[in-house]
Amino acid sequence: MESLTLTDGSHLVVDALKLNGIDTIYGVAGIPITDLARLAQAEGLRYIGFRHEQSAGNAAAIAGYLTQRPGICLTVSAPGFMNGLVALANATTNCFPMILISGSSDRAIVDLEQGDYEELDQMNAAKPYAKAAFRINRPQDIGIGVARAIHAAVSGRPGGVYLDLTADVLSTTLDGETAKASLVKVVDLAPRQIPAPDSITRALELLATAKRPLIILGKGAAYAQADKDIRAFIETTGIPFLPMSMAKGLLPDNHSQSAAAARSLAIGRADVVMLIGARLNWLLAHGKGPLWSGSTRYVQVDISPTEIDSNRPIAAPVVGDIKSAISAFLTALKPNQIRSNAEWLEEIAQRKQKNIQRMTARLNADPNPMNFFSALRAVRAALDDKPDVYVVNDGANTLDFTRNIVDMYEPRRRLDSGTWGVMGISMGYAIGAAVVSGKRVLAIVGDSAFGFCGMEIETICRYQLPVVTLIFNNNGIYRGDEIGSAPSPTGLFQNARYDKLIEAFGGAGYHVTDTPSLIKALIDALEAGKPALINCVIDPRAGTESGHLENLNPKSQLSATA
Ligand code: ADP
Ligand code: MG
Repeated sequence: MESLTLTDGSHLVVDALKLNGIDTIYGVAGIPITDLARLAQAEGLRYIGFRHEQSAGNAAAIAGYLTQRPGICLTVSAPGFMNGLVALANATTNCFPMILISGSSDRAIVDLEQGDYEELDQMNAAKPYAKAAFRINRPQDIGIGVARAIHAAVSGRPGGVYLDLTADVLSTTLDGETAKASLVKVVDLAPRQIPAPDSITRALELLATAKRPLIILGKGAAYAQADKDIRAFIETTGIPFLPMSMAKGLLPDNHSQSAAAARSLAIGRADVVMLIGARLNWLLAHGKGPLWSGSTRYVQVDISPTEIDSNRPIAAPVVGDIKSAISAFLTALKPNQIRSNAEWLEEIAQRKQKNIQRMTARLNADPNPMNFFSALRAVRAALDDKPDVYVVNDGANTLDFTRNIVDMYEPRRRLDSGTWGVMGISMGYAIGAAVVSGKRVLAIVGDSAFGFCGMEIETICRYQLPVVTLIFNNNGIYRGDEIGSAPSPTGLFQNARYDKLIEAFGGAGYHVTDTPSLIKALIDALEAGKPALINCVIDPRAGTESGHLENLNPKSQLSATA
């Protein structure tokens, strides 16, 4: 008789991930998943160990966005899980596929609240923040549990999935045959969702009636990797387009049909707007108010039927995946059905030219100390011949100015604070992008945003990732305090030398105070392709409270010092 081979839960989890093509885990090791992490690495998975679970989760989420496969974040129980939960919720909000896998303590004790080490009902805690949450209670269910989690994360509208693995499941043994038979390889990870043909006809007919049509591309369009077809549709119809921040580069920002530099005019004057993978949320003023004409009619292409009519009535909903939808549009489009309107394009071109002239004057001024404009002039110069560099962008003013000033030329190269406008994603996103692509990353970060994730520069140095972190240091949240005054709620340490931090881990630190030295530091650091941090001194008076979102910041009508 053959001898019985034994395996256990930890081995099975690794087998299940590998079987489904998962090659990387982002995590923080500890009880009860240390062995699982070690084993995964020994079995050939790439393990990237972080200093905080939130950044590990952010790395997993952005890896999911870039690859259309779920990024995996692995954490310890209760507090580690909760640190990762912020990233899981952010991934769900942004429609990024990721799976947060956390070890959990003894269910019998947790359920009776008898006070276990790191006791928490993690699955139920995760539910409101995840697209789905599952717990595996028996090792023979690992195969099906992992498959289900993968499918749930990637199919339909992608999102964050929580997968709970009890310490018990990880250590329980079972025989090799049963274990092998229990594994599941997912078939058709994200099934195509082909839109109904009549919805395509209706949308084209509406677009054909438009005098001033506009296409708004969101990060759903970037995620779909239908770059060629989207470009073909835009160029064939001649409709001007506006990229949302993470859709920048889907078509190059210097494309003649881009309306980015005439955003308010394009939105305000458009009579029919076609939303492709973009939500009418706060980032588009909910389709209401002074930005919009009030009589705009909409085509909305989205994978999620419940997104339709969320803020404004949608005259022509197209529910399906963007790749299938755009291909259906191209097939159904009759020659000359939608003809580009020269007058409308000219109106946009004129406004663009005016705005670009005004911007150029601001960029070319040389204030001392630097402000956001003169610093971003350096970024533009340094990135000019490097369209493949990933630009990660995090902060308030740093986010707003960079988005408007730094052009993108390739799809999915700009990664930023996204739907929540969350602070602190930069180091996680930068690491995830570098790991997935092997390409250089420039993270442009406000000094306050850096504080939420800055310790990950050790992670960057440990793995020698080609990440250059550029901190716009204006001594504070939004801006700095008067030199020498006591710290206000928004003030940070004055004249901090963030460049010294990376030197502790052998990375290259730069401290720059003028535009020419910033250009040089950026070119040197990017060309070296090694971990670097540039501390860029910006006027502490530069920057407005809440960046471009002053309207969202309730201001007390009574003076705080009265
Ligand atoms: P942005 O912030 O760039 O405007 P949003 O995150 O608001 O983008 O919108 C993205 C939209 O794209 C979501 O409503 C989501 O359902 C949709 N989406 C994501 N992936 C796909 C896809 N493959 N096909 C169709 N729609 C998608
Ligand atoms: Mg700041």
